Amino acid sequence: MEFCALASGSKGNSIYVGAEGRGVLVDAGLPGREIERRLWAAELDPVGVEAVVVTHEHRDHIAGVGVWARRFGVPVYAARAAWDAARAFLPPPTLRGVDVRFFEPDRSFAAAGLELTPVSTSHDAADSVGFRISDGNAVLGFATDLGFASHLVREGLRGVTLLYLESNHDEDLLINGPYPWPLKQRIRSRHGHLSNADCAGLVSDLLHSGLKALVLGHLSETNNTPRLAYDCAREALARHGAAGDVALLVARQDRPGTVVRLGG
Ligand SMILES: [Zn+2]
Ligand SMILES: [Zn+2]
Repeated sequence: MEFCALASGSKGNSIYVGAEGRGVLVDAGLPGREIERRLWAAELDPVGVEAVVVTHEHRDHIAGVGVWARRFGVPVYAARAAWDAARAFLPPPTLRGVDVRFFEPDRSFAAAGLELTPVSTSHDAADSVGFRISDGNAVLGFATDLGFASHLVREGLRGVTLLYLESNHDEDLLINGPYPWPLKQRIRSRHGHLSNADCAGLVSDLLHSGLKALVLGHLSETNNTPRLAYDCAREALARHGAAGDVALLVARQDRPGTVVRLGG
């Protein structure tokens, strides 16, 4: 399996996951041209992207979906409610002419030689999901944009080889930071975003001997720093004696991350 966080954060998200030159984009929240540029920068061929998979309808996840799908002639997989919500607020041409295929939460489907299982998450969107994605050898557990990790999410992400988790904010920076109070409340709510401490708690719960890599994503540029997020997750790994066994990376907003390659 190959995994690369092309962009991560509230200004745009797109993740590549695939195997042997075929793969999908999970979200396309940047201009299509920028996603293409970042794939090339990571030495991944855009022509190998056989589908785009949508986690939810927020602009930072969906803004470039239509352009990408039309340009490369690939289908888009989305929850029906998320797609309807996106069509309601994006300018009409954005999603026109897209070959969209609807998935149901918790029902697996196949794309680009991968098996994908949407996992329902709690977020202020119409129908938001994370994913469990398998290439037959390694398994990715993917969850960003969630206010808390429900039992369903925890079960959906259990036993995976690679975890991509939200580590959105440092609680103190958020509370003492410049955001207006209602926005702070929204972020901290059960429909908002996971803090560094929430992420560390989830890592402690999901840690097992087969976990090879942990990538932290959707960091706030205002209420977090890569260092704080990294240290918090590393401490959780260290508490369980796993700091040496699990590669720990932080996904960035401004540039693609390292390509993580995992076998069986
Ligand atoms: Zn987001
Ligand atoms: Zn969101």
